[in-house]
Amino acid sequence: MGPAEKIKNIRLQIADCTKCKLHFSRRNVVPGEGPADSQIMFIGEAPGFYENEQGLPFVGAAGKFLDELLEAAGMEREQVFITNVVKCRPPSNREPQEEELDACRDFLEQQIAAINPAVIVTLGRYSMGNYVKKGKISMIHGRPITVNGRLIVPMYHPAAALHQPSLRSVLLEDFAKLPGMIMKAEEMHENDIKINGPAQFDNEEDGKVKRNNAQQLNLFD
Ligand code: SF4
Repeated sequence: MGPAEKIKNIRLQIADCTKCKLHFSRRNVVPGEGPADSQIMFIGEAPGFYENEQGLPFVGAAGKFLDELLEAAGMEREQVFITNVVKCRPPSNREPQEEELDACRDFLEQQIAAINPAVIVTLGRYSMGNYVKKGKISMIHGRPITVNGRLIVPMYHPAAALHQPSLRSVLLEDFAKLPGMIMKAEEMHENDIKINGPAQFDNEEDGKVKRNNAQQLNLFD
C-alpha cells in the first residue's frame, strides 16, 4: 500500500472511531489534510469550533495566522501535511484529556509512519509532549531535536499568539528558520534511510511501525 492509500485508510478508520468520548459531541472528525508524501508535517492540539464544523484542520483565526507563518517560511499550505494530536473537538475547546490523547495516539502514529516526513513541527505543548517529556516550550521553541533520524521542531501554537501578541514575532522568527532546517533534515533523513532502510510495518493493515531506532535527543544550538 502506498502513502496516499495508507492516509486514506487511516481517514476511514478515524471517520468511524468511537474510541473516546469525544465522538459523542463531534460534528465532523478532523483527520488532517495535505500531501501524503509531504516532507514536513505540522501537528497541532485539537480541532476547534470551525474545524469541527468543516472537518478541516486550522481553518479559524489560528489557521489564518498559520497561513501567514507558512508564507514567511516560503511554503504554501498545499505543500504540507497538517493534523492534530486528537481528531475530534473537545467540548467548549477544553484541553484534551489524558485518556483522549491515549485513545487517539495510534492514528497520529499511523499518519507519521505513512507520510514519513523529514521534519515534524509540533504546535503547542500537547503535540510537543509526544517527543519532549521535560522542558518548557518557552525554553525550547524553535530548537530542533532529532528522533529516529527525523527532525522535531517544537513551536508555540499559533492560537497562543492570538491571546499573547508578543508571541507573534517569536513564531514568525521560528518559522523563518524552517527552510534551513528542512534542508538539513532531508540530508539526515536520506542518510538514515540509507543506513536503516525505510520504516517497516508490523502489519500493513494497521500500519504500526516496527523500526524504532534508539532515540537521540540532541538539542541543536
Ligand atoms: Fe476516536 Fe480520536 Fe475522535 Fe477519540 S478523538 S473518538 S480516539 S478519532
